[in-house]
Amino acid sequence: MLQKIKKLIFQDVKNENETKKVSVILRLNAIVMCIYFLCLLCTFFVSGEIRLIVWCIPCFCSFAAAFCTTYLNKTDLAVIVSHIVMVCWVIGFIWEFGWDCGAQHFIFVLVVLNFTVCYEKMSWKIVMVLAACALRLLLYVYTNIHEPRCVLDSGTSILFQVINTVFTFTAIAVILLVFARDSQEMEQKLIQYNEKLHRQASVDPLTGLLNRRGIKEYLEKAAADYKSRKIENLSVAIGDIDFFKRVNDTYGHECGDVVLRDIAAVFKENVERCGEVSRWGGEEFLFVFQNLNGDEALTFLEELREKLKKMEIPYKGETIKVTMTFGLGEFDFQRGMDYSINEVDGKLYEGKAAGRDRIVY
Ligand code: GH3
Ligand code: MG
Ligand code: MG
Repeated sequence: MLQKIKKLIFQDVKNENETKKVSVILRLNAIVMCIYFLCLLCTFFVSGEIRLIVWCIPCFCSFAAAFCTTYLNKTDLAVIVSHIVMVCWVIGFIWEFGWDCGAQHFIFVLVVLNFTVCYEKMSWKIVMVLAACALRLLLYVYTNIHEPRCVLDSGTSILFQVINTVFTFTAIAVILLVFARDSQEMEQKLIQYNEKLHRQASVDPLTGLLNRRGIKEYLEKAAADYKSRKIENLSVAIGDIDFFKRVNDTYGHECGDVVLRDIAAVFKENVERCGEVSRWGGEEFLFVFQNLNGDEALTFLEELREKLKKMEIPYKGETIKVTMTFGLGEFDFQRGMDYSINEVDGKLYEGKAAGRDRIVY
């Protein structure tokens, strides 16, 4: 039963121009107000105030109607009905019973409702707040000058004050709760979406390795860590597959992609523990080794180069074998990232010129 009610209240809106949050706030506010009018109906019924029962019924029906209109893609109508009925009710109640019954508290509900369900300009909202403030002051002045139509005994007056206060606070709490929860959810979704976008922008879709942008960010951070002495060594290397064009020309571009993916997987698996690897461009990979000096990185890369040379990549019944040439150097902190990368790039081309399948350090 409770689940059904919850589902009904939180049901999504069908009109894409309306937000679910506004409808849920209006529905919950309408429910609180309907319960409020039912309470008053009972009170008036017990005290025999038939005239006031007649007042309560249209108010109850108006809020019930406001509740229903949120399911008919008529949220605007529900907003207007809620505002008008509340204003009329506050004025009527105070005119009837005076200031001590606390009906004026509902003006605060109006203000909160106005800020949470209306998407009008800020200036319009401020006008509404000023109007609400003026209404409250006017009612106060009026009650100071005029006696209420119905002077209550202190017991009934306290009872009305309690009912009005409790329902005012309930309505405000319910509205703000939905509003705050929705805002937090939106913020969370936005953060997750931005993170996803950032991840997508930093990763190469073919190999799943970081792309140029991703590794540059990584290298910048590593350089900052090196500067602040969080890490003691930083080495960089660029590796390029030898005669990769031949692979494409002989077996097709699709085969070239398979080779890139398989090699990338081996890199990832091996480099994970000492740094990061990225797809720098076509068939070139940039390596960053944290806490490995040049000599240590050379030993590591030699092992990797050997492993790669022995690797057999199956493709449609064929076995593809490739070699790679590397340029390696220690990160030049004085001259920065671009200089260090250019330096190892130069070494890579020295390696190519010297016959490939080697590391130039
Ligand atoms: P070298 O030993 O001098 O590096 O020779 P190479 O053939 O590897 O170098 P070259 O620059 O002549 O050719 C690189 C080739 O890499 C050409 C290009 O089609 C291929 N390539 C670049 N990106 C991709 C890719 O994403 N998929 C495939 N299949 N091939 C790619
Ligand atoms: Mg190449
Ligand atoms: Mg190349």
